[in-house]
Amino acid sequence: MAESVKVSIFGSTGSIGVQALDVIKGSGGRLEVYGLSANSNVEVLSQQIAQFSPEVVVVGSEEMATSISERFSKVRVEVGGEGLGQVAMEADVALNAVVGFAGLRVTLGAIAGGKRVALANKESLVAAGPLVRMKLEESTSEIVPVDSEHAAIHQCLRGGSHNEVKRLILTSSGGPFRRFSATELEGVTVADALNHPTWKMGPKITVDSSTLMNKALEVIEAYELFDVTSDQIDVVVHPESIVHSLVEFVDGSQIAQISRPDMRLPIAYALNYPERVSPVYGGLSYSDGLTLHFEEARRSIFRGLDFAYMALEIGDGAPTWLNAANEVAVDAFLRERIRWTDIYRVIEGSFESFEKWTFSDFESVLSLDELARRRASELVGSL
Ligand code: NDP
Ligand code: MG
Repeated sequence: MAESVKVSIFGSTGSIGVQALDVIKGSGGRLEVYGLSANSNVEVLSQQIAQFSPEVVVVGSEEMATSISERFSKVRVEVGGEGLGQVAMEADVALNAVVGFAGLRVTLGAIAGGKRVALANKESLVAAGPLVRMKLEESTSEIVPVDSEHAAIHQCLRGGSHNEVKRLILTSSGGPFRRFSATELEGVTVADALNHPTWKMGPKITVDSSTLMNKALEVIEAYELFDVTSDQIDVVVHPESIVHSLVEFVDGSQIAQISRPDMRLPIAYALNYPERVSPVYGGLSYSDGLTLHFEEARRSIFRGLDFAYMALEIGDGAPTWLNAANEVAVDAFLRERIRWTDIYRVIEGSFESFEKWTFSDFESVLSLDELARRRASELVGSL
């Protein structure tokens, strides 16, 4: 039997992380756990260590490191951002399922180590796309997307050459408030926003899906991954989440990737690429019929998409700023400090003090991210 592929799962205690472990468990030994990481969830991480016997884990604090070391004396334990960057260099594949800007350490670490990044953490690409691309050029590393839309596009692109591509069409479920009026949106609660119609995901991305900021981040993610211009990226609302995205070629042909919504399919795709292997995840049957709907996004109400195209047009750190302001706003919303509609207000307001910024290293991106967070936090405080 061929040697197994060693995989580290960063953010293993989260929604994607747990599903990735399920994919590894179902791989019949083809995939093997090398490393795991969690920020603060000692209990779930401990269960995962007992079940998967990783060589190394990365944790969020020294206290957590002590507690894990006491329970598992044979496991190497690393801490914080530096630990993430170091361990990401070590296995064949780094599956980046950390949430938010903190995931950038994983992406950059795996690239520095010449290893594959199976990328769920879109924030690292939105916040530091130009830096990530520069580092990729100097490395033998590759990014294979896990985000379902980008995994779909990655597959559709195998149907033609780069200069035959006319546009990428990202699908969006439209989120739980697809049909809400502006007045109804003023009253939505955290519980409403966390009730996604088609996907079960972590809290941050679920809120992002409700504002369409998730799709906004994904427009930027597609721009960074697929070497297209921003006017070659379109979004269409597709409430069933069966068509995961499409590519239109210059002859008018559109190729789509379709399956039931199950993140284990794009996770397995990114871990096994370029091969396709069983078992089946998200398999689709037509025996009960299948009806699919498509409609335009209501961009005047769900303003996130306009923010993404604006940030790409400005360039010079604007996507970094957008990501940071959104993270601060979503965190404040989840803590019930601001209303749902204030998320847009915080992002838009924070851009009034945006400063252009070019960056060529991690420290410089970090400084810009921190500045944007400070400005956004001040706005949260003033609401
Ligand atoms: P979750 O909130 O469920 O999990 C987040 C994971 O990251 C947890 O393991 C958490 O550890 C860890 N973590 C949180 N903060 C930090 C930090 N500061 N440093 C290190 N680790 C941290 O998120 P999801 O699994 O939903 O999403 C993960 C990423 O994947 C996001 O970027 C999201 O946009 C993307 N994604 C998710 C999809 C989904 O279906 N869930 C679909 C497509 C993309 P702990 O448990 O200890 O807090
Ligand atoms: Mg997605």
